[in-house]
Amino acid sequence: MQSNSETPPLQASDDWPASRSEGMERLAHFVARAGRTYAAERNFDLGPDRRANVSVLSPYVRHRLVTEDEVVRAVLGTHSLSGAEKFIQEVCWRTYWKGWLQHRPGVWDRYVAEVAQLTAFAGSDRHLMDRLERAKSGATGIECFDAWANELVATGYLHNHARMWFASIWIYTLNLPWQLGADFFLRHLLDGDAASNTLSWRWVCGLQTPGKTYLARASNIQEYTGNRFAQATGLATAAPPASDAVPLERAKPLAPRGLQPECEIALLVTDDDLNPESLDLGRAEVTIAIVLRGTDAAPGYAANVATFRAAALDACGQRMARHFGCPVAAIDVSAADAAHRLTQLTRGLPIVVAQMPVGPTRTAVQPLLDALVIGGGTVHQLRRDWDHAFWPHATKGFFHLKDKIPSVLRELGLQA
Ligand SMILES: Cc1cc2nc3c(=O)[nH]c(=O)nc-3n(C[C@H](O)[C@H](O)[C@H](O)COP(=O)(O)OP(=O)(O)OC[C@H]3O[C@@H](n4cnc5c(N)ncnc54)[C@H](O)[C@@H]3O)c2cc1C
Repeated sequence: MQSNSETPPLQASDDWPASRSEGMERLAHFVARAGRTYAAERNFDLGPDRRANVSVLSPYVRHRLVTEDEVVRAVLGTHSLSGAEKFIQEVCWRTYWKGWLQHRPGVWDRYVAEVAQLTAFAGSDRHLMDRLERAKSGATGIECFDAWANELVATGYLHNHARMWFASIWIYTLNLPWQLGADFFLRHLLDGDAASNTLSWRWVCGLQTPGKTYLARASNIQEYTGNRFAQATGLATAAPPASDAVPLERAKPLAPRGLQPECEIALLVTDDDLNPESLDLGRAEVTIAIVLRGTDAAPGYAANVATFRAAALDACGQRMARHFGCPVAAIDVSAADAAHRLTQLTRGLPIVVAQMPVGPTRTAVQPLLDALVIGGGTVHQLRRDWDHAFWPHATKGFFHLKDKIPSVLRELGLQA
């Protein structure tokens, strides 16, 4: 049982300290540039040491160490909505992808199954395996692509434009399955996210916006990397859209929003939302907080990703002990006795957890919660106001949601 604030924090990489305070500092540092400067310069990938044109907030936003609401509120404290329009739209792309996948969980399930099938197939096809290994280890001979593969593995981050070029070259020049490229990203990105990652890869190969694909061009790469790479030769010159084996499912209605119990509760925290202090708990009283670890155990995440998450969870546990003044425990959800431990620690109290969006964490945790409910317990998944307001607009294309940004920000009290 981890129950005090004296436990020494786990260390993540020096470049990406896994704490809320680091995320808030990055936000404060970036805010001045979130206006027209961002709109003009954001597409340049000038290399790992020159990232001032983007916020590099994604690992913090991904784990909700810093929430979208906080990011947009800070930006609107300095800029008008029209001045920071581009940046706020980018933040809303994440919201859109999350909401879209929430309406179509089957797309994630199918992706997971396809990764498993393709991985098994690659295991029996030496030629495919060699090509995959060359791509992942940066040994294809395509200078820019190899540099990005190495950068991803070494740092856990890639610029957005590099992600688009990389995915396009993976699919169209190297003729590798998009699902295995998405899997490579998901396991190495510190911001690796089921929705943003899977749906961006689907977008590059033409599954997400039917008929629309993304082709990486040598001249575009040269220009937007500030001539860091000589014009690549041999890149694919066409990007034919992929077709899905199964027709796209219709958008399912969102699950009803959980209500706050007005009593003593056990608060669960997962790596999908490490900001429990700002969760609206109403009049509930937190009697015990439980950090759920090990949700990333199954697909074999890179060591820096696993360390970032473990350190962020650990730091969150310490913050909760201070904020709620309650004992804090940790459960490894991949352990055989996880359900038993959860029952023991929660002692019949209603459980509250920030809504777990579609993705690996929900897959790992939901069965534990289901078992608890079957045993007579209650679980309240609380959807944040941000998601509650935006997600209903994420059933069609992004532009449908984009049009709603001003009115939703007003509804959320972020905009007069
Ligand atoms: C193939 C591919 C895979 C991707 N995988 C992920 C992923 O796993 N996780 C992830 O968070 N983003 C992903 N993105 C989106 C985007 O590349 C990153 O969010 C962005 O590069 C993060 O850097 P930043 O924080 O400096 O972004 P900024 O440009 O400073 O943007 C601010 C914030 O807005 C959000 N954001 C910006 N652009 C996008 C976008 N296109 N889609 C969704 N959210 C966006 C992020 O939360 C980001 O932190 C992917 C894009 C592509 C093309």
